[in-house]
Amino acid sequence: MFSYRHGFHAGNHADVLKHLILLTCLELLHKKETPLMLIDTHAGAGIYNLQDRFATTSQESEEGIIKLFQMRSSSLLTDNIRHYLAVIESLQTQNNLLQIYPGSPYLLWQSMRSLDKLRLMELHPTDFPVLQGNMASIQRKRQDIKVELANGFNHLKAFLPPPSRRALVLIDPSYEDKGDYFQTIQTLQEAVKRFSTGIYIIWYPILNRLESQEFPDRIKKLCNEHQLPWLRTELRIKNHQELGLSASGVWVINPPWKLKETLEFDLPVVKSILEINGMGQHLIAHHE
Ligand code: SAM
Repeated sequence: MFSYRHGFHAGNHADVLKHLILLTCLELLHKKETPLMLIDTHAGAGIYNLQDRFATTSQESEEGIIKLFQMRSSSLLTDNIRHYLAVIESLQTQNNLLQIYPGSPYLLWQSMRSLDKLRLMELHPTDFPVLQGNMASIQRKRQDIKVELANGFNHLKAFLPPPSRRALVLIDPSYEDKGDYFQTIQTLQEAVKRFSTGIYIIWYPILNRLESQEFPDRIKKLCNEHQLPWLRTELRIKNHQELGLSASGVWVINPPWKLKETLEFDLPVVKSILEINGMGQHLIAHHE
């Protein structure tokens, strides 16, 4: 499990899908004033440098955020995609060079209001201190943030239910270990029993492997058993025979009001910009 470093994948098409949806959920949830507990069970390093040796070796961001960012003045973009790109642009120090890419901890942090809380878990012995350092460098006085060297699958329950009874939980394992599929479902089972009204955002890769193919049906079954509304989104940018991850999905349990409608405008645009050789596809399915 410690072979996985998100630095190789930062800003790829899967990050674009996940982070666009994460930001959209945050925007929609902030329409209500009640404080939110923001939880990231698999936080990664928090902020990435797209010029470092990880990113330049894999070049995955070239098929993701770099391509989308180059289109930031295009009239094709929706306001919501523009907002995501503006958050990224605000992090850059050099004009026209996309160097810094925000991970989910940064995106959660930048949306925090004074009474919101942020809880981050990361288990990697090298990425954990990097995450700690990155968060320490941006944390403002009196912001309630905890960064823990912890197993996000086991530790999530410690935060549920949250005192304000409102929480957004991102579950974003790497799935390099196929046990992650099972652990994600088990973690969700326990989480929704403790706190069924939380907003749970689950990222997953779409791969030619049984665990991956069965995964959406497993989450759907869980949602149906607990009578929870859900939204399923997927984005494919290339044929599955091409090199590298070609598609991924984000499942949202208890999706915020208007999330589906917003993504119905956004995802076709993202697909049309990121697709390679016309092989892009997107999916939006839901149940209320
Ligand atoms: N959420 C991050 C983002 O969007 O910027 C990316 C996270 S990356 C896909 C998965 C992270 O989970 C890796 O940094 C990995 O070291 C970490 N990890 C793996 N197993 C874990 C576990 N059981 N608990 C917490 N973190 C874990």
